[in-house]
Formats: sequence, structure tokens, C-alpha cells
Amino acid sequence: MLKITFLGTGTSHGVPVIGCDCPTCTSTDPRNHRTRCSILVEQNGASVLVDTSPELRLQAIRAGLKRVDAVLFTHAHADHVFGLDDVRRFNDLQGGALPCYGDSTTLRELRRIFRYAFVPTQVGGGKPRLELRRLVRPSFNLHGLEVRPLRVMHGQLPITAYRFGKSAYVTDASFLPEETVAQLQGLDLLILDALRRRPHATHFNLEQALEVVERLAPRRALFTHLCHDLEHESTNAELPDGIRLAYDGLVVEVAP
Ligand SMILES: [Zn+2]
Ligand SMILES: [Zn+2]
Ligand SMILES: [Zn+2]
Repeated sequence: MLKITFLGTGTSHGVPVIGCDCPTCTSTDPRNHRTRCSILVEQNGASVLVDTSPELRLQAIRAGLKRVDAVLFTHAHADHVFGLDDVRRFNDLQGGALPCYGDSTTLRELRRIFRYAFVPTQVGGGKPRLELRRLVRPSFNLHGLEVRPLRVMHGQLPITAYRFGKSAYVTDASFLPEETVAQLQGLDLLILDALRRRPHATHFNLEQALEVVERLAPRRALFTHLCHDLEHESTNAELPDGIRLAYDGLVVEVAP
């Protein structure tokens, strides 16, 4: 089985939002506490992170994560990469550099944002040891996990979604090109960006996400990258069968 752990399900601000007293942000339901977006994908002993959120350390501790074989990046926005320094611990545990996959724009941005990790200036103190690798299309194999990178649009920015067997992770998307729609057929599980109720220039809102699910017809769908507009239980109550909001710590198993 393929196991997916939702390490974080929040939008870039996280939930609770700093200084906000809304019902979601003040909720005592832990499912309304959302760290920044990331998942862990495990299959046949392989353990792969999708993105390194600013809360990676806390997410790894909460999930009992002891090993990461590779990181797949969707894009280089702050909420998806700012925890990259935390992979030092996996360098120490495992030895060697950690393979980090992304499209050419993402890898260039990682080199710029984390410049200290790639130049021999810092004396003492740890630096993450990273091996940047270009994505291989149409698919490549990571320790037995088949990874299929897919192009999706995040506003005007082309970014990467990933299909793993019968599951797909599509975060930070506002439009799916036709060739990607064709690659997202026959899914058991679709994980999809559904930011909020109001429209947004670079993310699907709830209504658009529901339209995408209807079009792709996966067996089930989980929404992520959620802002505080979407209170967990009351939003779930209005969603059709087979579609739910994800939450931090949720683990799902799907046929590979
Ligand atoms: Zn709020
Ligand atoms: Zn983004
Ligand atoms: Zn984001």
C-alpha cells in the first residue's frame, strides 16, 4: 500500500492566523490547526517528502519521521520551501546529501534562497547537504515509488503536481492544462488545493475545487492548502460524499 501522511494542510499564513479571533482560528478542534502544506509519501520502505514547509521540524517530530529518501518540490514559494534547513537532521541520520527534485525554476530559486548551503563560506555550524536534481518526465522511480510530475498553473506560474500510482497531489493550482487533466484520470485519491470560499488569482477556491473533482471523478478527494475561511467540521458537513477537508496528521492508505 501507498501511505500518505498530511504533515501540513494550511495556506501560507497557517491557521490560526496571527492576530485573528475568527471561529476557526479560536477553535479547540485540532483539525482547525493547520501548519504549512506538505505531505509524506511512503511505499515499500521509501519515504519521500513533498515540499519542506516552514514547520518541517515540528511536522517531522509529530509524525515520528526518522528517514527521508528524497524531497519533491512543487515550487519555491516560501510556504513550501522555508523548512529546507531542517533536513540537516536527515543528513546526519542517514549520511550523504539528500536528493531534492524540482523543475528548473524551482531548483534555481532554491540555489538563490539557500545560497549558504551551496557556497563554501560558512565555517562551523551545520549546513544542509542537498543534491539538486531535475525532474524526469514522464516519470521516474524513487526507491520503488513511481513518481509522475505533472504541470499545473499557479496563477501565471507553471508549477509541479505529482501522481503516485492511483494518487495525486495537486497543491497551489488555479488551472489544470488539458494534458494534465488527461494524466489525472482513474484516480483512487485526489489531493487538491481548495484555498477558501472567495475566488483567488492563484488558487482554486472551494467551488472550483468541487468542479475539478466532478470533472476528474476520483474515487475520493481530500482538500488542502486551506485558509481560516474553511472551518473543518462545518465545511465537511456541506461537502458531497467522498470529498473531505484534509487535516494535519491525517494518514490515508491507498492501493499503489
Ligand atoms: Zn481566523
Ligand atoms: Zn504557491
Ligand atoms: Zn502555497
